[in-house]
Amino acid sequence: MDTPKENFSEWYNSIIKDARLCDLRYNLKGFVVIEPNAADVMGRMYRIYEDALELRGHRKAYFPSLIHEKNLETEKEHVEGFAPEVFWVTEAGKNKLEERMLMRPTSETAIYPMYALWINGKSDLPLKIYQSCQVWRYETKATKPFIRTREFHWIEAHDVFATEAEALAQIDEDMQMAEDIIHDSFGIPFIFFKRPQWDKFAGAVDTFAADTLLPDGKTLQLPSTHNLGTNFAKSFGIKYMDDDGQEKYAHQTTYGPCISRIFAALIAIHGDSKGLILPFHLANVQVAIIPIIRKGNEEKILPFARELEATLSKSFRTKLDDSDNTPGFKYNYWELNGCPVRIEVGERDIDSGRAMVARRDTGEKSQVPFEELPAYIEELGKQINDSLIRKADSDFAALQKSADTLEELKSALDSGGGFVKVPFCSDKMEAEACAEKAKDYCSANIRGSKHEGEEKPEGKKCIGCGKEATIYLYAARQY
Ligand SMILES: [Zn+2]
Repeated sequence: MDTPKENFSEWYNSIIKDARLCDLRYNLKGFVVIEPNAADVMGRMYRIYEDALELRGHRKAYFPSLIHEKNLETEKEHVEGFAPEVFWVTEAGKNKLEERMLMRPTSETAIYPMYALWINGKSDLPLKIYQSCQVWRYETKATKPFIRTREFHWIEAHDVFATEAEALAQIDEDMQMAEDIIHDSFGIPFIFFKRPQWDKFAGAVDTFAADTLLPDGKTLQLPSTHNLGTNFAKSFGIKYMDDDGQEKYAHQTTYGPCISRIFAALIAIHGDSKGLILPFHLANVQVAIIPIIRKGNEEKILPFARELEATLSKSFRTKLDDSDNTPGFKYNYWELNGCPVRIEVGERDIDSGRAMVARRDTGEKSQVPFEELPAYIEELGKQINDSLIRKADSDFAALQKSADTLEELKSALDSGGGFVKVPFCSDKMEAEACAEKAKDYCSANIRGSKHEGEEKPEGKKCIGCGKEATIYLYAARQY
């Protein structure tokens, strides 16, 4: 197999197929079947995110996946942004429908008419609801499993507040949640960028999006959180009676962690030339036991290995590989599938009372007394996760660059990609032409400004128009 860094696209395509993450043979273009090896891990990622949302006051709901056409038309900017990507339902049974319905591309227009009914007084606020669901967008660009498909799996949280201050605090909470989960738990580094005005969510006041970098240096957007202001509240009539007896429009935020994409980043960032590397707590099989059987010793090895499997299964998702394959084949198989810990049990191991334990991420091996295995694996799981995060962080740090001209930007992107900090005249609509220039010149996409901790450019010129720069924006090539 290729290495993800040297030939990412080839590597990604083979890992998808070889580790049986998804089957591309489904006969609808842009739609894939997510196989159990991926769905198990995604299910764990969902649960971690859902728990975090619920701990922060969200409740779960399920809204219908079909939306009335007139709902979509309610918010003018939103419909312009999404209409080109919508799948329409125009017939049912033998009837042509008088009114069209759409498959949700995102659920603002399904949820907000209901919020208008549910919210009356101040005591109805804040209202924080999420759903985990699939959404559909008619992508016309080339699709790539988990990264860009016409159906994807995500969580969308839709929150409503009385005041702007509470809405802005929610945006901070959303970003912190991403740090806690996507970085600290999944080991995926990212930067939150405030998107330029020309690239924000259709209908929002501001969009903040977490962008990571895949091993080829191209960026992939992970969750985004949007300050909707009162734009949608005005369109959908989401109002509350305030203490002063005045009816006021509510402030809204929406947060969309796309689990299928975060999964793509997970496998891309941690994987190596042998296959997947999964964080210990996310792996389908955390511990694989490989019996080293030679002619005549099955009776000694297999019962011992089965007992070990039963013991370790009390604490870890453990699998004894008692297939007829050779040990070497089994090592490769479990490495390909990203199993974090492998235990080899042969005659010598049993006689010496110690198992050979191999960790997937570094390949290091240690001999561990059988009775100490549960505690040892527990600790090893933490070490594996820590070391995955450290490695991902250091690869990410190496891809942070800066440039002062379009030529420098191009050469930075041509040599391994990454995020390139560039001086810009503005991040308002009037600077869109400068972003277009960067795109035309070197396929650079302007991702926005760092949400926090950034200095102002001094004495620098905008890379697009040459006027005095007022802000640093970040450019990258994107998926
Ligand atoms: Zn400019």
